[in-house]
Amino acid sequence: MFPDGKKKALTLSYDDGVEQDRRLVEILNRYGIKAAFNINSGIQTGANTWQNGKLLVRRMNVAGLPALYAGHEVAVHSLTHPHLENLDEESIRNEFEQDMLNLERIFGKKVQGMAYPYGTFNDTVVRIVQECGLGYARGIVSTRSFDIPGDLLRFQPTCHHNDEKLMLLAESFINSKPEKPQLFYLWGHSYEFEAENNWHIIEEFCKTISGRADIAYCTNAEAFGL
Ligand SMILES: [Zn+2]
Repeated sequence: MFPDGKKKALTLSYDDGVEQDRRLVEILNRYGIKAAFNINSGIQTGANTWQNGKLLVRRMNVAGLPALYAGHEVAVHSLTHPHLENLDEESIRNEFEQDMLNLERIFGKKVQGMAYPYGTFNDTVVRIVQECGLGYARGIVSTRSFDIPGDLLRFQPTCHHNDEKLMLLAESFINSKPEKPQLFYLWGHSYEFEAENNWHIIEEFCKTISGRADIAYCTNAEAFGL
């Protein structure tokens, strides 16, 4: 069950700590919607950039992030954003443990979950996530489902914000009267809105799905009861 005994919950998950998170947080805060922001603390600096089409994507410096993300969740995205399944065990562990330590120091809170960089993992990676005490870990394969699976360390989201069925899923979620808990879990990168000039997607989604008495608007950790 979700906060306040509700049977439906919405949560978002956005990766990489990039500059466009500022605009995304402004939108989410305006609609009372919460997200987890997944951070690579080993490269979380404005000096870390990459090209996405014509857009130069830039991570933010750490200063100011606790204020920016206040009320939301900050979660692990590994220390340096590697393909974890290609690393040896000690390196995988280091990617989680050091990111957790950094995030707990920067944000003053225990971190409870993560998003896999590139969405990829194998059984060894999942075992180490568990050994590090993280309660959930997210991939990037759309399920278009609201069911909550038993294994939260191989959790897959409902959909990406670019899913052509996004608003149909939102309507069906809004209209549903479920017996068992149902979670709408949306993920993406905020720089995609700028690169593709489609901030209206998240604005319209939030406007449609917010302010409903039967939906809990919560962080990932709250949605998973952690
Ligand atoms: Zn990422």
